[in-house]
Amino acid sequence: MTDSTNRPPSVDTLARSLVDTGLPHPLLVDIAREAIAAGDPESAAARADAAKRSMLQRVINATGTLLHTNLGRAPVGVEQPFGYRNLELDLQTGQRGSRQSQAPMLLAKLCGAESAIVVNNCASAVMLILAALAGDKGVAVSRGELVEIGGGFRVPDVMEQSGARLIEVGTTNRTRRSDYERRIADPATDVAMVMQIHQSNYRITGFTEMPTTAELADLGVPLVSDIGSGLLDAACPWLTDGPPTWLAEEPAAKQTLEAGASLVAFSGDKLLGGPQAGVIAGDAELVGRCAAHPLARALRPGGLVLEALQDLALAYLRRDGQSIPFWRIATQPTESLRTRANALGVGSVVDTNAVPGGGTLPTVEIPSVGIALPGDHRAALRSAPTAIMARVEDDTTICDLRTVDPADDDALGEAIRALT
Ligand SMILES: *Cc1c(COP(=O)(O)O)cnc(C)c1O
Repeated sequence: MTDSTNRPPSVDTLARSLVDTGLPHPLLVDIAREAIAAGDPESAAARADAAKRSMLQRVINATGTLLHTNLGRAPVGVEQPFGYRNLELDLQTGQRGSRQSQAPMLLAKLCGAESAIVVNNCASAVMLILAALAGDKGVAVSRGELVEIGGGFRVPDVMEQSGARLIEVGTTNRTRRSDYERRIADPATDVAMVMQIHQSNYRITGFTEMPTTAELADLGVPLVSDIGSGLLDAACPWLTDGPPTWLAEEPAAKQTLEAGASLVAFSGDKLLGGPQAGVIAGDAELVGRCAAHPLARALRPGGLVLEALQDLALAYLRRDGQSIPFWRIATQPTESLRTRANALGVGSVVDTNAVPGGGTLPTVEIPSVGIALPGDHRAALRSAPTAIMARVEDDTTICDLRTVDPADDDALGEAIRALT
């Protein structure tokens, strides 16, 4: 008689035993095969769990970084009922319409622009502007702005890919209006536009000088400002208490256009608080040239993104910042964070500093409150039913409540209790 307990289970039997994971059978077969090949069929359940964890899913952000690059930057959620969309159809006339006529127009209105279009992200917005407006001509950029912004976005590289010629102006720490004037006056440089790039995640301090947008607005060529983060209006009319103090130095689309920029480019998923997207807004003729360039077709966003942006723009127009998750969490009073932390009844309640993150506002801290736990519990918290991302400082785990949706407080409390 053979001893059936020592015989490895069949791939199929093992795969079927994992059906409760909810993973499709073909994936379970792969997992079962790997576990058996490793001589450890018992590991199949853990392998299936790891496979589930590798899927895109909602997570709880307790890091205190509001725009966490690894967590998709701004918190977003959309409920879009199944069905067709009038993505490129004018319901009034029944004629073909443009996907660039809803969300982009609302965004244009919000930043006081004549026109706007939406592309995949801010990097593609810059690429499209350069290709459409500069072609193989020169683009004047201050040496102080030839920066790399997180995720490998290097201004000189993007420029090279677009075909435009980079004309470096001034020095790393000091650039003046007269430096641009001299380069533009030199016929050999053939400058088609001036580009300002917000330094986003770094600062040059000390002996520095950089012309304002207004000073560069009338150089005789279009001025394009890559403001990066997508703050629509420095006055923040969507917030009852106006702009938070930590926004102080951040350039805003409306004011940059008012100061004379021909176009602004910005991301959808930073301070705008939306899905990944890039916005080009400003002068109607220049936006039109971008929209008409063949690259615009390759960089266009899908209907899911456009509808999410449209809903976001409507919330801004209603001045309802509290319905925009990013602004809701960014402006939560510290005292309500403390009340929530105390109500959890776990760990010790501590004062913390949250940060905007996402390559914005590098030196800014936002007062916050968190739960401190001795030791590094990040791995255990990541394996909670809804994964929780925390941070560690001085061998203490901090769960920062500013970035946690109050609806997740119970899940956070349970996961922390389960640690001990
Ligand atoms: C973040 C940023 C970008 C890149 O934006 P993506 O949307 O990630 O492509 C470009 N320029 C500036 C100034 C930025 O801050």
